[in-house]
Amino acid sequence: MKVIRTAPEMRAWSFEQRRQGRSIGFVPTMGALHEGHASLMRAAAERDDARVVSIFLNPAQFAPTEDLDRYPRTFDADKAIAEATGMEAIYAPTGSGMYPEGYATYVNVDHVSEGLCGASRPTFFRGVATVVAKLFNAVLPHRAYFGQKDAQQCAVIKRMVRDLDMDIEIVEMPIVRDPDGLAMSSRNAYLSAADRTRALALSRSLFAAQAMMEAGERDAGVLLAAVREGMADIDIDYVELVDGDDFDPVDRVAGTVVLAVAARVGETRLIDNIKYTVPAKA
Ligand code: AMP
Repeated sequence: MKVIRTAPEMRAWSFEQRRQGRSIGFVPTMGALHEGHASLMRAAAERDDARVVSIFLNPAQFAPTEDLDRYPRTFDADKAIAEATGMEAIYAPTGSGMYPEGYATYVNVDHVSEGLCGASRPTFFRGVATVVAKLFNAVLPHRAYFGQKDAQQCAVIKRMVRDLDMDIEIVEMPIVRDPDGLAMSSRNAYLSAADRTRALALSRSLFAAQAMMEAGERDAGVLLAAVREGMADIDIDYVELVDGDDFDPVDRVAGTVVLAVAARVGETRLIDNIKYTVPAKA
């Protein structure tokens, strides 16, 4: 397993893979790897010849009041998981390497990044788009794998890639959940046993709304009210029904929609969502 610390070294490795005609699959992460990350790495290992995972806890996507300082750092365990899932290289740049003194350039993706998490975390998607653009420039992947867990992030990255003419296929993989339904997240490590039980309100409410959509419910107001009621005991940040592409709120379920929630359970902010596509008429 190669651990690469700088962009020039990363690019040299990737140029060599490309010279050999190998496709490069890339999984960007902030570390504290779990089964959700592993599913992305396995998908890359199935499709791509050369496989890179990045581990970089990106300060640009944390507000000063957020959890950057206490975010779990588990590099040795991450390395073992990366190895077991078929990664060939870990790109783990340093903070000062990524954002040296005087750093001045940011990528802003308008519109799709403005609602939901963008409304409660105003500089978050600018930090995400900037770091992913920088990681893409170092890793030079053919394909990059992202999780539907962060569905709005995925939409932001797809829009950035289209708008900036990046020749990279974005692959979105389904949410990996614990057996009781909780979406896996590095932040679940913060939850006390009692909070973890309370956190199940997110997935339970989403699944109930999914069953309503499957039974034919199309009214956003009805669905959102049901989800809010299911999450009444926790501190809701947002509950939204949005279009699957541009993340604009919708009044009715049509085409592909995302039902997305964010809530604070104890000190921990959690997000979850489900995607639903209205079946084509037979
Ligand atoms: P993070 O380390 O939280 O920045 O996540 C890195 C990548 O893993 C992102 O594309 C996430 O959407 C994805 N990811 C995180 N949790 C899950 C999950 N439970 N299921 C699928 N993908 C996930």
